[in-house]
Amino acid sequence: MPSEHISTSARSAPYEQNDKRYLWHPFTQQQLWEAEPQLVIERAEGCYLIDVDGRRYLDGISSLWANIHGHGRPEINQAIKQQLERVAHTTMLGLTHPTAIELGKRLVKLAPGKLSRVFYSDTGATAVEIALKMAFQYWQQADPPQPNKRAFLSLRNAYHGDTVGAMSVGGIDVYRRAYNHLFFPTIPLEYTACTCGSQPACNACRMPCLDIIERTVAQHADELAAIVLEPLFQGAAGIQTYPAGYTRAVWEIARRHGLLFIVDEVATGFGRTGKMFACEHEGIEPDIMALAKGLSGGYLPLAATLATEEIYQAFLGSISEGRTFYHGHTYTGNPLACAAALANLDLFEQEQTLEKLQPRIEQLRQGLEHLRHLPMVAEIRQCGLVAGIELARDGEREQPFPPERRVGARVTLEARKRGVILRPLSDVVVLMPPLIISEDELAYLLMVVEDALSIVAVEEAMHEEEQHV
Ligand SMILES: *Cc1c(COP(=O)(O)O)cnc(C)c1O
Repeated sequence: MPSEHISTSARSAPYEQNDKRYLWHPFTQQQLWEAEPQLVIERAEGCYLIDVDGRRYLDGISSLWANIHGHGRPEINQAIKQQLERVAHTTMLGLTHPTAIELGKRLVKLAPGKLSRVFYSDTGATAVEIALKMAFQYWQQADPPQPNKRAFLSLRNAYHGDTVGAMSVGGIDVYRRAYNHLFFPTIPLEYTACTCGSQPACNACRMPCLDIIERTVAQHADELAAIVLEPLFQGAAGIQTYPAGYTRAVWEIARRHGLLFIVDEVATGFGRTGKMFACEHEGIEPDIMALAKGLSGGYLPLAATLATEEIYQAFLGSISEGRTFYHGHTYTGNPLACAAALANLDLFEQEQTLEKLQPRIEQLRQGLEHLRHLPMVAEIRQCGLVAGIELARDGEREQPFPPERRVGARVTLEARKRGVILRPLSDVVVLMPPLIISEDELAYLLMVVEDALSIVAVEEAMHEEEQHV
């Protein structure tokens, strides 16, 4: 499959050699990585990544779901530079700084419901880890204390990051398999036929039936600290969208049974779904919210865990009462990252990003409609400017391709030859461009996806033919 467009050049060769000699990449089978040509990105501007040979590629996944207003935005660069002139890093342990304070105030203003306190960290996984520890400790210190409420309920195929706590509430089997013995136990959910009358049925979307969640929660309410949920869709599960109202229904179950509701907006936050936060679509008021990815506009590692005043209050007391939240990271609330995040929020206002996004969401919807009838396409799921195109043999979800065919990966390689960067989740092709993608750029992205799907479909048809003779 290596093509002219992704082959090693005189300029990229030394980088590639040293990468393969010294580095170890995330979520990557290095044996394959070392065997195949790799792309070396040197620069970026707007929605384009530029490799060491000067070739331009449309960033179809926002540099892993992070970039919001495009690369190399002068406003964000300038904010980082100005902060750099003041101070690059100072600690939040025992000191504070204006940029973190200003950002905290802005986030609380924007946040859904009663979230009123901002606890910084640096990645999505830590934001979730912090949420779990807060919820866990909250019940020990609540009035009255309920120390038995220690367990979490989360969903199959959920993804909340790769630290051990975040993985404990994660549900993607391939990521978990090797570490099973490390996890704290969670309350399991059954995935039997939908009985709650949801339209479409919960199970049709591979989600647990709401009746079952309700029953399980009722049964374990005394042990459960919180429900953890990605709102509107499960990202890493393959943009697995929920039926309308599902997120709200799960939130209501948590409320009815006196559980905390932790919402993981790491992927959905900052406009991806068409609103600033996914919670706004269904009027959810979470107790704790995890943010990361788009928080800094996709420029620097920054995360935040927001909590309600009620939770915050439970942590107040004298030192000897032991109510302190003993958690922190060296780079918590890093000033450069906070400055980028403020510039990110400014751009949302100045450019009316969310308003301008609406026609792009509609354009994506129409473009996807056009792909629905291609041979390998089993299902297309969209939420805002995010889409997952699930591929299977004969377009039948029940007939997945054998993993060794690497169908999703081959589609993204074909896209790369045509100047578009994508990254699949097994055989789901994910589209998640920066929010500022133009009409023409989005049209090009959709056209390339169609071409790439068509080419791989033909290859697969030929392969199947060969198997049969
Ligand atoms: C990416 C992601 C995380 C983890 O964020 P990192 O910054 O990669 O640790 C957590 N939750 C969701 C929903 C995500 O998509």
